Amino acid sequence: MILMGPPGAGKGTQAKLLQERFDVPHISSGDLLRVAVRRKTPLGVQAKRFMDRGELVPDDVLLGTIEERLRRNDCATGFLLDGFPRTVAQADALVTMLLSMGTHIDNVTSLIVPRDELVKRLSGRRTCRECGAMYHIIFDPPNNPGICNKCNGELYQRDDDQEDTILARLDVYDSQTAPLLALYRRRGVLHEVDGVGSPDQVFERILTADRVDGR
Ligand code: ADP
Ligand code: ADP
Ligand code: ZN
Repeated sequence: MILMGPPGAGKGTQAKLLQERFDVPHISSGDLLRVAVRRKTPLGVQAKRFMDRGELVPDDVLLGTIEERLRRNDCATGFLLDGFPRTVAQADALVTMLLSMGTHIDNVTSLIVPRDELVKRLSGRRTCRECGAMYHIIFDPPNNPGICNKCNGELYQRDDDQEDTILARLDVYDSQTAPLLALYRRRGVLHEVDGVGSPDQVFERILTADRVDGR
């Protein structure tokens, strides 16, 4: 399964719920890149300047990392992709990778959220440094400001969740990623889901869309 949607649509939040329900690995290209940046690996060093500007990291840097992750044993019975693919070229590369592994994509779910709501969500997003849990300073605040409810880890704001970079990322989504939706619609695997409402409501819609449109 692929979860699509602009930055702030709730992909990470829904991916966690889907991961718990279906016990499949959640593969977030953004998380993989942020780990590489933190560890200062060659991938991370190259990727950082693109991420800081809200631009896409070039495919030659990223594709190998994704393929390596998909080839791990835990993906053999299914996986959930979040943030990848983001371009038509990446979608083509994914088809080739999956073909060589004898598998394919069954479901692409796209979360639809208006731009002003995306900006609000992204500018208030906070993430736990230790366990990756997600919060929002208004919509889903932690019990104690700056501290994770689950593990007492420190909450931080991502460098790219600042107004200028947020707007750049939304434009990149419209120009480079949104065209993928038509491609998946033609392939008959696309489910479009209203992403406004509580995380639980959106989760129910994702499950229902798969039952109703699924074939
Ligand atoms: P969000 O879901 O908030 O957009 P991500 O964590 O998915 O954020 O991505 C953060 C940044 O990582 C992107 O702005 C981009 O620079 C880089 N990135 C993530 N996934 C990809 C990808 N598939 N291709 C290129 N760059 C990517
Ligand atoms: P994405 O991975 O698509 O960039 P996230 O899951 O990180 O999106 O969500 C972005 C921000 O919006 C986070 O702060 C999260 O807590 C908040 N959020 C997620 N889902 C909802 C929702 N349904 N309603 C309100 N806020 C939400
Ligand atoms: Zn935590």
